[in-house]
Amino acid sequence: MANVVVVVGSLNVDLVVGLDRMPNPGETVFGRTFDRHPGGKGLNQAVAAARLGAEVHMIGAVGDDDAGRWLRTVLAAEHIDDSGVITVPGPSGTALIEVDATGANRIVVVPGANDQVTPAQVQDCLAKLGTFDVVLTQGEVPIAAIGAALGAARTRGARGILNPAPVRDYGDALLGQADILVPNEHEAEQITGMSTSHSVDADEAARALNGRGIPTVVITRGARGLVWASGGGSGTVSAFRVTPVDTVAAGDAFCGGLAAALARGDNFPDALRFGAAAGALSTTVSGAVPSLPGLEQVKALLAANS
Ligand code: ADP
Repeated sequence: MANVVVVVGSLNVDLVVGLDRMPNPGETVFGRTFDRHPGGKGLNQAVAAARLGAEVHMIGAVGDDDAGRWLRTVLAAEHIDDSGVITVPGPSGTALIEVDATGANRIVVVPGANDQVTPAQVQDCLAKLGTFDVVLTQGEVPIAAIGAALGAARTRGARGILNPAPVRDYGDALLGQADILVPNEHEAEQITGMSTSHSVDADEAARALNGRGIPTVVITRGARGLVWASGGGSGTVSAFRVTPVDTVAAGDAFCGGLAAALARGDNFPDALRFGAAAGALSTTVSGAVPSLPGLEQVKALLAANS
């Protein structure tokens, strides 16, 4: 194992406004706070894997704007190789997030440059890389690029992981190109039409996805842990007990942790526990990128629960 993870995914700028109450259509209100955060599932998962010890290469696209230049500095600060990130004309991916005094939010995502990631770009970047162990991708870049990422992973003998968020019309042919599919329970319900409310239901949904050609399925269930199934069997991993303050990016921490653990050669059950520990820790800190834990924190939580 070369300890290398390639993330093919989105990079966004999250523009977050705190306000007392949401404006009605046509109304103007004053906001109280304004913050800019790095985001996008691709970037979040890349940062998660890098902080957990993997050598990470990012493939994606940013716009030729200030946001795009800033996103590259974020990747550099996390020691993530951005040579697979192209700059395209137009805006970088942007999320406009309004949060009112009750904590309710409204979010508009403009994919911008993320929509311009192409299969040829993905194939070229992967062809230029030496060995890689895991290719990790999500639903925030074009479906053809996701297919190219998973296809190249298989050809090169790496593991392809798809976090199908958000759920789109992927089709079984594409889902079956993933070695490991990691939906959360809501995404699993959308993809299968089956309930995941109880562990036995989630187990059935995961097995149904095996039956649709996906070798391994991991359904994450927040504080209730996760259920996994593969041709060889199925099982559960309990969530670690923590005191959550904000569950944003738990799934991203989990996916990044799973990828990092598999890339350095952990067996599958250990990698699931490692991912679950990363997911749990991410809920103890507010925000997305600021909440993604480091290797020592995850090791400490695992040791405390061994
Ligand atoms: P998503 O953010 O995609 O909805 P989940 O909420 O299912 O993903 O979280 C992913 C994993 O992170 C879970 O399987 C679990 O192991 C861990 N996790 C999430 N929320 C908690 C929590 N409140 N307490 C402990 N672990 C959690």
